[in-house]
Amino acid sequence: MSLNIQVNENYSALKKNYLFSEIAKRVGAYSAAHPDAKIVRLGIGDVTLPLAPVVVEAMKKAADEMGKAETFRGYAPDFGYDFLLKAIADYYKKAGVELSVEELFVSDGAKSDVGNIVDILGDNEVLIPDPVYPVYLDSNLMSGRKVTFLKGSHQNGFLPGPEGLEVKPYIVYLCSPNNPTGAVYNRDQLKAWVDFANQSGSLIIFDSAYEAFISGDYPHSIYEIEGAKSCAVEICSFSKTAGFTGTRCAWSVFPKELTVGDTPLSSLWGRRQATKFNGVPYVVQRAAEAALSEEGQKQCRENIAYYMENARILAEVLRKKGITFTGGTDSPYLWLECPNNMKSWEFFDFLLEKAQLVGTPGAGFGEAGEGYFRLTSFGSRESTLEAARRLDLYL
Ligand code: PLP
Repeated sequence: MSLNIQVNENYSALKKNYLFSEIAKRVGAYSAAHPDAKIVRLGIGDVTLPLAPVVVEAMKKAADEMGKAETFRGYAPDFGYDFLLKAIADYYKKAGVELSVEELFVSDGAKSDVGNIVDILGDNEVLIPDPVYPVYLDSNLMSGRKVTFLKGSHQNGFLPGPEGLEVKPYIVYLCSPNNPTGAVYNRDQLKAWVDFANQSGSLIIFDSAYEAFISGDYPHSIYEIEGAKSCAVEICSFSKTAGFTGTRCAWSVFPKELTVGDTPLSSLWGRRQATKFNGVPYVVQRAAEAALSEEGQKQCRENIAYYMENARILAEVLRKKGITFTGGTDSPYLWLECPNNMKSWEFFDFLLEKAQLVGTPGAGFGEAGEGYFRLTSFGSRESTLEAARRLDLYL
């Protein structure tokens, strides 16, 4: 017998999440028809290099501690061990941002935090860039929120600003460097958002998951911008910085200046986390601490430099072919305009058939992504060079 209960009807507002399954389906069909084809995959945004040696050492040491009665640990503190909170605060300090450990909350991923933050927010108008990481939109739809898109385009460099918005309170999601466009807000552009948020009483949710890939003069943290502490939450992750996509650790920043009336937003987030989340494993937090040590940062930077060399190789061939693109210099993603006015999926099929090369159709990241395509630099050097060779040949 079927259940006789009400389900969350908001889920019916979600678009079928078919992007990566559709890619797998098309690649699978192509492989079946061409069993000898050597397909190069630059589609999925997952890292491929192993964890840094100091991170692995820290994990082993922590695992040993867990095996001894004197050093065994049970539940971790809800908001993170002090040693990791201090390491994160020091990481910010080096970038000139002062934060106390009470303002930091360790979690198992930026996806969790970005998705869960809707729990502590009421019924506000929500502004979401288009195109962008799909979790912002889906988590708001799941909770029945009204969403307005901030359209990205070549005209605004895929960096929509607050110009032209009615001055009233919003929840604004910003992602810089952006997934999928690789575009990065500069100081003036971020200052415009911070000023608008402070003027209108809006909250910015700033996703800085790719900050470690920035090499140019762009802010790594929104708190580098004056006034941001009273209007912005920042969510960052070890996933791409330190290759933790399968290890899972991230953090959120709720500055003490961030209040609604007399209520600090951090108190709501703390209550939410303490109720619905039971902390990140000790072993993982020790690994994350090691990633932020001087040696850890050096080793992680070597991995990032490897990916960014891949990005440079891909950017070079796109430039040579006269293809317009963003990203690739301060982000692991390259976002290109499909040649000959092809639509995103048309270009996907073209590349698969002609070059046996797989990327991600931009239309999967929002309506404004139609006609664009994402390549990632997270592949091996060998597959990136091969991809560049084929792009050179077939574009
Ligand atoms: N934020 C952005 C912009 C992302 O692209 C991703 C992952 O691809 C995440 C957050 C998720 O990070 P995590 O692995 O920490 O959940």
